[in-house]
Amino acid sequence: MSEVTQAELIAGYEKKIFDLTQLIEISKSLNSSLDYNALIQSILYICMGQLKLLKAGLFVRRDIGSQDLVLHRSQVGFDISPGELRLIPEGNKLIDYLHDSPRSHSMQELITRLDEDVLKPISDLEPSLIVPLRAKDVINGVLVLGDPIGNQEITREDREYVESIAILAGIAVHNAFLYEVTTTDMMTRLRLRHFFLDTLGSQLALCRRNEQELSIIMIDIDNFKSLNDGYGHLMGDEVIIGVSRIMLGCIRQTDMAARYGGEEFVILLPGAEEAVAVQIAERIRQSVEQTSFSLDDASVSVTISLGLASFDPLNEVNSQHFIDNADQALYRSKRGGKNRVTVYRPNKGETND
Ligand code: GH3
Ligand code: MG
Ligand code: MG
Repeated sequence: MSEVTQAELIAGYEKKIFDLTQLIEISKSLNSSLDYNALIQSILYICMGQLKLLKAGLFVRRDIGSQDLVLHRSQVGFDISPGELRLIPEGNKLIDYLHDSPRSHSMQELITRLDEDVLKPISDLEPSLIVPLRAKDVINGVLVLGDPIGNQEITREDREYVESIAILAGIAVHNAFLYEVTTTDMMTRLRLRHFFLDTLGSQLALCRRNEQELSIIMIDIDNFKSLNDGYGHLMGDEVIIGVSRIMLGCIRQTDMAARYGGEEFVILLPGAEEAVAVQIAERIRQSVEQTSFSLDDASVSVTISLGLASFDPLNEVNSQHFIDNADQALYRSKRGGKNRVTVYRPNKGETND
């Protein structure tokens, strides 16, 4: 064997070792995140970084009850108008094709095998590579990747590498999706109580360490029993769903809204000092008050009462104590006439805002 060939051989092995080490790191990073949105962002950045791409997007399931895949909002570089829903509907032949041929495909390859209609959801994105994600023999994602920087060719090695990433990503997405589903109340799309309590515990610990602000808001719908009695349970459900939607619309991605009980909710605002939390609480209160909730021909208005507590590092509190404080403030809101925000004050009772 000539010396050059031997050197090439060694360089080849070194590259393989490097790639495998990278893949182990990628695997660790993908498995460390159960946060669905953060995970999808990581997958996209890993692909872009490894292949030096300018554009990357991932179609994933949006809902437990549906097999439709939608382009996740974390996509980078594709020209999509805000709010546009890009959908590969359940039953689309592209998914069947990718299932039977679970490797990477160029758009040209797909065009020769599938109808224009079938490729419509992805064709105007002009991806250079399409890679399916799989878990338990089901396609649970479709990666669409743009051209590399400087219009370089995507090599066969690149394709093999991204296929390996896709195997890891498919399993990670599956786990994160299951986690999301099992910690979310399907009626309201808010987090479940146990998930909130868990998160509150870790957020409080983080706040203590970093001396960071944190506030929570407890919310209860006013006179809900009489609404149920007067308009029926279905209307009651509609109101619960509507109030939840308003709450989600008033908070940021890093905040959390949870369904604490039947018509009781709690919002966790990491980094929010009392004054900011009061503003958010007041915005939610007003928005609910001004909304009319409809079912069939009937429509109703409701109000909510809110209790707010902010984390005080000097007056150290544990999770339960913290929730009790917000709950006490909520109780004051109820006693004070409902439809109001009350802030908890240690040793001094509470104040209405
Ligand atoms: P208050 O202003 O003091 O809060 O009075 P309220 O009538 O709202 O009293 P309370 O908070 O105790 O009422 C809770 C009611 O909410 C009782 C229960 O039947 C109803 N409820 C709980 N979960 C649901 C649900 O998922 N759907 C519907 N429609 N009603 C629910
Ligand atoms: Mg209640
Ligand atoms: Mg109530």
